[in-house]
Amino acid sequence: MKVIQANKPGELRIVDRPEPTAPAADEAIVRIKAAGICGSDVHILHGKNPFAIYPRILGHEAAGEVAAIGSAVTNVKVGDHVVIDNVFSCGKCYACRIGRPNVCSNVRVLGVHIDGVFSELIKLPADHLYPVPADLPWELAATMEPYAIAAEAIDRGQVGAGDTVLICGAGPIGLVILQACKSLGARVLIMDIVDARLKAAAAMGADAVVNTKNTDLEAAVKEFTEGEGINVAMEATGVISILELIVAKLMSPAGRVVVLGFPVEPAKLSPADIMKRELDIKGSRLNNRKFGEVVRWFAEKKVDPTGLVTHVLPYSDVEKGMELFANHPAEVCKVLIKFD
Ligand SMILES: [Zn+2]
Ligand SMILES: [Zn+2]
Repeated sequence: MKVIQANKPGELRIVDRPEPTAPAADEAIVRIKAAGICGSDVHILHGKNPFAIYPRILGHEAAGEVAAIGSAVTNVKVGDHVVIDNVFSCGKCYACRIGRPNVCSNVRVLGVHIDGVFSELIKLPADHLYPVPADLPWELAATMEPYAIAAEAIDRGQVGAGDTVLICGAGPIGLVILQACKSLGARVLIMDIVDARLKAAAAMGADAVVNTKNTDLEAAVKEFTEGEGINVAMEATGVISILELIVAKLMSPAGRVVVLGFPVEPAKLSPADIMKRELDIKGSRLNNRKFGEVVRWFAEKKVDPTGLVTHVLPYSDVEKGMELFANHPAEVCKVLIKFD
């Protein structure tokens, strides 16, 4: 079978690997049909992920068809269309014991710590598979992983109807969080520095957009919230000064700051700003078993992935897809590769 692997930083190759052996009792084999290219794939290819071990089959966003199941598998059957939860955990550590396996101290993520979904076939524990309707196009089903990240973020931010939400960054993650917030009845202001992305955000229902290249974010938040401050801030840009501004100036009392961007440099935050408004500052990583919820969102049309997918390429063009994704933020949102 063909797989797409990073042999070492900077070297991407399509190579042949042996097909998976027969599944164990609790495993299934999935024939991958479509997979999304994500920032983390690009980071691993470029040697910027300290957790990656090479050679590594990339990819963690995928939809496919069940090709075989083990004797004890009951949640899926051969021929089912499925999406794959990409997060694996130990089940024993503190985070796992309190129901937070996405931050397991030994977390393993497809395409990062273990071989991923850019592969014609993959063998997995079947409890990581979620059936989706057979008439859902593969390239749309494969966007469910980013939506699972959005489900985690709105859970962490306790977003509710009528809340004001600031989303920093209108890339793929910002846009799926936007859709999730709108489905809950929140009011959303979204910021970016690329007009085309803000245009996409407006088309997906953002109540207001702000390009911080030419507009002051603090003034925009003040106007949007009539001086109250924002109730929930989703920081997905990874720009330290934006996180600092959020905590110092943008939040309402009892606000929640959700940190999705992850630069390693320290930020300057004043404890007084956190204490006096009783702010919650929370990380949001991967997803905590959110795929079932996302499958329901799709079924109930609470979110719409069609505007997200801008490019669909055959897997043989994966390198071109990575280049598009990495270097053309104005024209490119999600790039999907297809296996047939
Ligand atoms: Zn991703
Ligand atoms: Zn664990």
